[in-house]
Amino acid sequence: MSVATESTETFASLNPATGEVVAEHPVHDAAAVAAAVGRAREAAGWWRALGWKERRLRLLNVKGSLTRNLNRMAELIHQETGKPLQDAQLETIMAITHLDWAARNAQKVLGPRGVYPGIMAINQKCVLEYQPLGVVGVIGPWNYPIFTPMGSIAYALAAGNTVVFKPSEFTPGVGALLADLVGAVVPEHPVLQTVTGLGETGAALASSPGVDKIAFTGSTRTAKRVMAACAENLTPIVAECGGKDACIVDADADLDAAADAALWGAMSNAGQTCIGIERIYVVDEAYDRFLGKLTEKARDLRPGFDREAAYGPITMPGQLDVIERHIKDALDRGGKAVVGGAESVRKPYVEPVVLTDVPDDSSAVCEETFGPTITVHRVKDLDEAVEKANRTAYGLAGTIFSGDRSRALDAARRMRSGMTSINAFAAFAPVAALPFGGVGESGFGRVHGADGLREFTRPKAITRQRFSTMNLTSFGRSEKEMARLLDMINLVHGRRYKR
Ligand code: NDP
Repeated sequence: MSVATESTETFASLNPATGEVVAEHPVHDAAAVAAAVGRAREAAGWWRALGWKERRLRLLNVKGSLTRNLNRMAELIHQETGKPLQDAQLETIMAITHLDWAARNAQKVLGPRGVYPGIMAINQKCVLEYQPLGVVGVIGPWNYPIFTPMGSIAYALAAGNTVVFKPSEFTPGVGALLADLVGAVVPEHPVLQTVTGLGETGAALASSPGVDKIAFTGSTRTAKRVMAACAENLTPIVAECGGKDACIVDADADLDAAADAALWGAMSNAGQTCIGIERIYVVDEAYDRFLGKLTEKARDLRPGFDREAAYGPITMPGQLDVIERHIKDALDRGGKAVVGGAESVRKPYVEPVVLTDVPDDSSAVCEETFGPTITVHRVKDLDEAVEKANRTAYGLAGTIFSGDRSRALDAARRMRSGMTSINAFAAFAPVAALPFGGVGESGFGRVHGADGLREFTRPKAITRQRFSTMNLTSFGRSEKEMARLLDMINLVHGRRYKR
């Protein structure tokens, strides 16, 4: 459910393509956030007590409802972000897939299981289980307003937590609709509430002592502020932040496929993708042919809000200045625009920009651009490509195109990132069983998969003594018992190991 508010203050969500008001939403202040967290706390006991099977059933029904409302959700995403309707549909489908996986796998991943106690504790029955934390605060971005928060919301709910969700101020309607759909399927208690507002609403959620964990997705800069707020209450946080992902193209790669995927990775959603491709490193032998294919395809792309447009406007107006600055810096420092250029920024749109010969320390290469621009670099071999791809404080994901399976796998392992996709772009994102998250400035912790479920739990260890053996942790232990233990330990652990 969306949270009711006493406050009369509202803000508008705007269509970034037309500037029209999509809807007005309440600004939830600190008191409203605290009230929502309080309700979530009460609901958490009920939701947890429902048990695995009932939660699974309800979440599968939420999934069914979201699927039946797919077009309604996608239209709202289209309106609030400006992205093409089909992209919004694809995003919603991915969110549905994750919700399905989380609902179906929570018990298997988190439920109680026996653990072998080891020889020292052979008389103990050991049980490990993953218990819900209670109330999870989810703070989401605008660029994938259903897919990204669902990576936390579905997994947190499936693990037995309740959720208070603060969507981005650019996409409040998506958050409100999601909470309404959940509320209609689970009417008894507010297991998912959406609070809307600006940064202060998110700050109130992060600093709430009633929240047991914050799942934050957004920029690295805001993640640091959220973490500082969480420190006050020792609230743990999972942080999914920005990126500067690289695509590597090997000498023997399928260049048509590589150019197609790199273009989609760089330009789809107007480049406003955390795991979007922002840099391409191409091995010398393939460079000219690859660049030819990439630029030919890039020239065909046109931004707009109509059905034929390849991608939409820049959703967050302030980002246009960043994109403009990065293009200018690249060109001022010797870079060449082989597609587009400084004139490509036509607010609220940015036409495709392909840059070459850009110095490695230019802001277009070092900082997250979040626009439909790409820098292409010539490297002598795969090793140099990996080394340059890793020369960033970020480390979210990456792409490798190569005709050699083992060379690609080796390069993927050496890439400093949470995810790497070989011969496709971001193939890991819709695979619900795989963990998603970054290293360095891209954040820490994981959403999706078994790791994503465990992220919203605490492990609980329980032992039960089945029979008594030597009682070594008693003031009554005998010399004889200790000697027997020492003999046993020598036998089990004292030997020399050979290769
Ligand atoms: P922001 O960091 O600007 O905002 C993210 C969220 O934090 C929004 O809901 C925002 O609310 C809220 N917020 C702002 N200030 C505070 C505060 N002081 N305390 C608590 N919450 C606050 O990111 P964007 O929305 O611009 O999203 C784009 C960024 O997200 C990019 O860097 C992108 O790479 C990253 N991202 C990462 C993903 C990942 O999985 N790793 C996925 C998607 C995006 P409001 O909008 O109201 O200001």
